[in-house]
Amino acid sequence: MSAELHLALIERTAAAIAAHAEELTRLDQAIGDGDHGVNLRRGFEAIAADKEALAALPAADALQKAGMTLVMKVGGASGPLYGSLLMGMAKAAKAGEPLARQLSAGIALVMQRGKADVGAKTMLDVLVPVRDALERHADAAPEEALAAVRAAADAAREATRDMLATRGRASFLGERSRGHYDPGATSSQLLIHAVCDVLEARA
Ligand code: ADP
Ligand code: MG
Repeated sequence: MSAELHLALIERTAAAIAAHAEELTRLDQAIGDGDHGVNLRRGFEAIAADKEALAALPAADALQKAGMTLVMKVGGASGPLYGSLLMGMAKAAKAGEPLARQLSAGIALVMQRGKADVGAKTMLDVLVPVRDALERHADAAPEEALAAVRAAADAAREATRDMLATRGRASFLGERSRGHYDPGATSSQLLIHAVCDVLEARA
């Protein structure tokens, strides 16, 4: 991956989080403690502040370093979880695995760290369907694969609304967690779209 591509990915993801920080916070106010937008903005600002150095690194090293930054800078559950996602991806990237396998490795680490699976109304409810869409479109044209990934992220985020939260703070609400989008699933959807924006411009 080129430094220019890394730079675009960092800038686009950080901009998406900044633009939607208030919305993420509002969603977290409904079923959590209202810090998800602030948490993620802090983390992605820290990554963006280091963008030139990160962009110059090989993809695996950049993912590892960005993941560490999220673990350190983001308060709350989502920092260590998004950090795990990137660090799991980094390990697979280092081994030369394709993107879908990198995402799988990241997801495995998130599941291990958060002791959650799909259906618990978390970021995993977007990340796993996105990985599945990527796998299904492994041989498709890039434009087609990216469109499928976007559609999967949208449908998956939508589906979190009526789920019962069984992990994270939202689980404290029990049945009252239904009827609200999950904040982490929403930030995952935003991040996936930001990555697709960058990759589409180059496809
Ligand atoms: P906190 O819940 O500590 O305030 P955030 O508000 O930053 O942290 O993040 C909340 C989001 O983190 C949730 O919406 C959910 O998507 C995700 N999350 C919480 N717990 C878990 C878990 N065990 N596994 C996966 N994702 C989780
Ligand atoms: Mg929170």
